[in-house]
Amino acid sequence: MKTFVVDLGKCNGCYGCQIACKDETVENDWMPYSKPQPNTGHFWLKMHEKIHGQVPKVLAEYRPALCNHCDNAPCIEAAPEAVYKRADGLVIVDPEKAKDNKALVDACPYGAIYWNEELSIPQKCTGCAHLVDEGKLPHCVDACATGALMFGEEEDLADLIAQSTHRWDIEGTAPRVHYLNPFGLFVSGEVWDPAADLIIEGAAVRLTDEAGEVLETVTDGFGDFWFKHLDAGTYTLEIASTGFKGVRRTIELTDSLNIGDFPLDRE
Ligand code: SF4
Repeated sequence: MKTFVVDLGKCNGCYGCQIACKDETVENDWMPYSKPQPNTGHFWLKMHEKIHGQVPKVLAEYRPALCNHCDNAPCIEAAPEAVYKRADGLVIVDPEKAKDNKALVDACPYGAIYWNEELSIPQKCTGCAHLVDEGKLPHCVDACATGALMFGEEEDLADLIAQSTHRWDIEGTAPRVHYLNPFGLFVSGEVWDPAADLIIEGAAVRLTDEAGEVLETVTDGFGDFWFKHLDAGTYTLEIASTGFKGVRRTIELTDSLNIGDFPLDRE
C-alpha cells in the first residue's frame, strides 16, 4: 500500500506543491479518476501557514495538506457507491457516480472535498492516480524541491512513519499522510551588556521544563538565543555569562514567545 510522508522540517513554504497540483489538474481531465479542477476555489493540496512569535523574532510554519487517503474513510462510509479505496490505498471519488452528491463535501472531516458547481460533482486529490498507474510520482511530490514530500510503499517508509506525529489525525480515520517534525512553539530573546551598550555573544542559556528536562544553547553573534520545537507548558529560563550577574525567569508558554531583551548587570 502506498503512503505519503511530509517532512515539515524540510518544507520552506515555497507553495510549489500547491501550484503543481493545480498545474496537473486544472483544465485536465483524468478520467476515470477526476474531472478538471476549477480555476479558482479548490485546493486539492492546500498549504497551511502559521506565523509564530512577535516582531522582530518571527518564524513561519508551513504544512501542505491533501486528502489523507484514510484507511477508515468517512467519505467512503457516506457514499460507498461513489467513493472507493484502490488496492494501493488511494481513495477516489468517482466523478460519475458521485455526480450531484453535494453532501459528500461535508463527509470529510479534514475539509479535503470541494464542490464543483459547474460540473455538479464533489472533487478532491486523487494522489495523481493517473500518474501512479504509470509508475510515476504524484505531481506535488515530484515538484517538491526540498524533498519534504515523499510517496511510496508503506514498508519502505516505515522508519519515517514510526517517527510521525498524530497532531492532525482525526481519531478513527487512519490517515495515510504522515507528518514529521511538526513545528511546535519557540522561545527567543536577546542578551546584552547595558554598560557597554553591546550584545553579549556566547552567553549560556538553559531552559528547563516541568519534568526537569534541560535544553541548552548559547547566544549568537546578534546576542540572540532560540529554543524551538517546544510544547506548551511551564519553563525556567536561566542566563549566565562570565563577569555578569545571571538571571532566572519562569515562563508560562502557551504560544511562541519573543521574551525580549535581557540586560545583564556586571558583577
Ligand atoms: Fe475521505 Fe477526507 Fe479521508 Fe480524504 S481525508 S479519504 S476525503 S475522509
